[in-house]
Amino acid sequence: MSQQITRLGLVSALHQEQAGLIEAMQGKQTVTRGMRDYVCGSLWGIETVCVLSRIGKVAAAATVATLIERFGVSHIVFTGVAGAVDSDVQIGDIVVADALVQHDIDATPLFPRHEVPLLGQSHFATDVHLTEMLAGAANDFLGHDLDASVPAQDRDRFRLSSPRVYRGLIASGDQFIHTAQRHRELKAAFPGLLAVEMEGAAVAQVCFEFGMPFSVIRTISDGANEASPHDFMQFIDGVAARYAFGTVKRLCAAR
Ligand code: SAH
Repeated sequence: MSQQITRLGLVSALHQEQAGLIEAMQGKQTVTRGMRDYVCGSLWGIETVCVLSRIGKVAAAATVATLIERFGVSHIVFTGVAGAVDSDVQIGDIVVADALVQHDIDATPLFPRHEVPLLGQSHFATDVHLTEMLAGAANDFLGHDLDASVPAQDRDRFRLSSPRVYRGLIASGDQFIHTAQRHRELKAAFPGLLAVEMEGAAVAQVCFEFGMPFSVIRTISDGANEASPHDFMQFIDGVAARYAFGTVKRLCAAR
């Protein structure tokens, strides 16, 4: 079991996912480094640093390295949205990563496909204890808070009937996956893959290198295919932002 959360680093790629959390923080102080605002304060009794990474692996890696080196966080949680790659996983479900892989890294023939050169591995595991807590918080949120948190019109529009929490593999790369062909290729390359996004595996690599306990939680926003919703931003505002807020609140209460 990892140690107590003494200072939580909370990272998201999109502004809407953090606006509510930042509003809920007490005793806020903002420090700007490398074009990012690190908002430090107390969130439901936990000392927290909230920051937007912006989109993509480089942006996420730089943000997380700064959180670790300059802000002394003890744990990192990345919240965001992702495309589903497993046929059971639906829009509005939650995927909590057990492990992450960079689907676009390829140093063959020097190193095996998907292996991060000189680290000797392709898959990076999340912290078991933090991930357990986060999945529990997500389950509690969906089980108890969904109706009060997500407006009925958004639940209807995105057909959220009884969303579920899944745990498993997430793949990341610097591409928004929106074609059936890329979807199929990813599914074939990574058995058991649940979802695809653009930051998580970069966070995972940096946290591995620094020995930092971390977890990644993603609300499924699309099917990683041509049908990617045209009302993506409405999904972020109406659903994903509410999920992030409610799950982090439950996580802080449960620690
Ligand atoms: N339309 C948005 C773009 C953000 S979408 C805007 O204008 O701001 C990209 C974000 O959603 C990334 O942070 C990525 O991690 C996640 N994401 C959701 N679905 C994805 C998919 N199908 N493929 C890759 N990333 C996805």
